[in-house]
Amino acid sequence: MPKTESAAWLQRDAAAVWHPFTQHSRWLDDEPTVVERAEGPWLYDIDGNRYLDGVSSLWVTTFGHGEPAINDAIREQLARLDHATFLGATHRPGIELAEELLSTAPTGGERALGKVFFAGDGSSAVEAALKMAYQYSVQTGRARPLFVRLAEAYHGDTLGSVSVGGIGLFHATYKPLLLKTVEAPSPAVFDRRTTDPATAAAEAAAGLESLMAEHGDEVCAIIVEPMVQAAAGILTYDASYLTAARALADRHGALLICDEVAVGVGRTGRMWASEHAGIVPDLLIAAKGLTAGYLPLSAVLATDEVYNAFLGAPAEARTFFHGHTYTANPLCAAAALANLRLMRERELVKRADELGVLLGERLAALTRHEAVTGIRRLGVMAAVDVADKGERAGVAVCKAAKRRGVWLRPLGNSVVLMPPLALRPEETDLLVGALDEAIAEVYA
Ligand code: PMP
Repeated sequence: MPKTESAAWLQRDAAAVWHPFTQHSRWLDDEPTVVERAEGPWLYDIDGNRYLDGVSSLWVTTFGHGEPAINDAIREQLARLDHATFLGATHRPGIELAEELLSTAPTGGERALGKVFFAGDGSSAVEAALKMAYQYSVQTGRARPLFVRLAEAYHGDTLGSVSVGGIGLFHATYKPLLLKTVEAPSPAVFDRRTTDPATAAAEAAAGLESLMAEHGDEVCAIIVEPMVQAAAGILTYDASYLTAARALADRHGALLICDEVAVGVGRTGRMWASEHAGIVPDLLIAAKGLTAGYLPLSAVLATDEVYNAFLGAPAEARTFFHGHTYTANPLCAAAALANLRLMRERELVKRADELGVLLGERLAALTRHEAVTGIRRLGVMAAVDVADKGERAGVAVCKAAKRRGVWLRPLGNSVVLMPPLALRPEETDLLVGALDEAIAEVYA
């Protein structure tokens, strides 16, 4: 196919489309890809070039694209029921998915995640969790209008989720519009305060403790991304922080919300990242990999205690006034159900853990480049920091990798690697090999 094919589509795109997180004044300079089809870990553009999908199409694919068993599940569901409302009605895929999700939920101690509330994407599930936490505080004694958020946090782009975000670049503009929050220090090592993860976690926990001592009575929930602050640059942190946050939430009668949108569904080598610390949150948010990357669907898993507070509230306050037109859409639910079942059958979480180790070994070799200033990884999510090089070093490295057939996305001066959980060893070599060559080229 001639190269002009994508050029023509990009002209039409530029004339009609407004893209997310995009500075349109230089949209075309960044050589966007016109994706035509995909198979497994491969994306094919409209000119017939193929690229290894090194970021799982924005952190969503589990098996890769076009997994036959998931395709079949969606097709079979389509033949029966495309959509039905979840208000005043229910359906088999929604019920079965809730059951399947709960069977995977983290356990330990007395707290049990026992109910599933569906939403449409990561942000809308965060919104639901925030409203649930606030309403729970009303049900159980006193309205607590304050949320604790972490520095460097990212929880989505709707106003509630922006309120609990802590990344200046993404969130500062919208500050006048937001909910009441207080910022706790990040437990991740990212500003060279210390190089020891356990020390960073202990310091951040001490910060959270004093914040809760001051504001605890007003706080309805502490919200965290467990183990990895992903959008901040795959900032990994020590599990001890989560244990401390769980204890502090309990001490002050606040809920702990674990946003597992990025880190859940096997991504960190455990089904849920909360498992690394052996904690059970009051609300657990799942999205992204939930449908294997096929369709938009998210979920808030709530403890029986939270659910029962709504059930036992005065009649006028029992309802959770929240829901979307497409809540638990049957096609989305069928995709998610097939994904979770297949993950169990094929032991994908265990394979992801093994893939993570291999990825870590391969990435370690990149330290031979002077330009590589840091590497972080947990499971199958990693970032390689590259030295500042005038403007947009991360973009330059990703462009050079793309010329070598590997599709990556930068976050500032970090290059993110988040391939499908089922990536094969030879594909892993290809992925890291292309990044290796790209760094060599850009910093030659
Ligand atoms: N929470 C976290 C931790 C995320 O990483 C993201 C998206 N990257 C979101 C929430 C928002 O999800 P969505 O983009 O599906 O709204």
